[in-house]
Amino acid sequence: MKKKFAVIYPGTFDPITIGHINIIKRALRIFNKVIIAVAEDTSKKTLFTTKERVLMIKESLKGYKNVEIDTFKGLLMDYAKKKGINTILRGLRTVQDFEYELQMALANKKLNPECETIFMMTEGAYSYFSSSLIKEIAHLKGNIKNMVPSPVEKMIKRKFQSKEV
Ligand code: ADP
Repeated sequence: MKKKFAVIYPGTFDPITIGHINIIKRALRIFNKVIIAVAEDTSKKTLFTTKERVLMIKESLKGYKNVEIDTFKGLLMDYAKKKGINTILRGLRTVQDFEYELQMALANKKLNPECETIFMMTEGAYSYFSSSLIKEIAHLKGNIKNMVPSPVEKMIKRKFQSKEV
């Protein structure tokens, strides 16, 4: 299969999970480059700052080739235009994801008809991993070892400890 050049994988990544990494690894088999675009403007209340979210991705993807980690403010479609890339990658886990993603993809198509959103289905073992569920488990002092990369595990623990004092 002839590889397309680059794809943008946007998200909040608060924090990056093994589920996100699975999507990135699989995308690297299809695309020459995956640009992980961390959203600075998000309606979600994040636990980590943009800097921390980027740092966790960097630490988790050490040694990965063909991955760029970037941040963006404002509209994703403006960011894509600025980067000169017209393919967006998103992951799908549940029917709820589908409804939200469909709406976003249609809105983005309206804003930039040249840009396509493509979806990658979660893989079985990762299907229930979400950043918010993992934060909840960590907050309640549960084990998140196999759900996030080890640098993330450490940072989540540190974050909740600092909130307790
Ligand atoms: P956003 O706030 O933009 O939804 P997220 O960091 O929550 O950002 O997710 C980024 C993308 O990764 C979304 O398309 C989401 O559906 C996908 N994703 C998150 N976790 C998984 C997973 N376990 N399997 C597949 N896709 C996932």
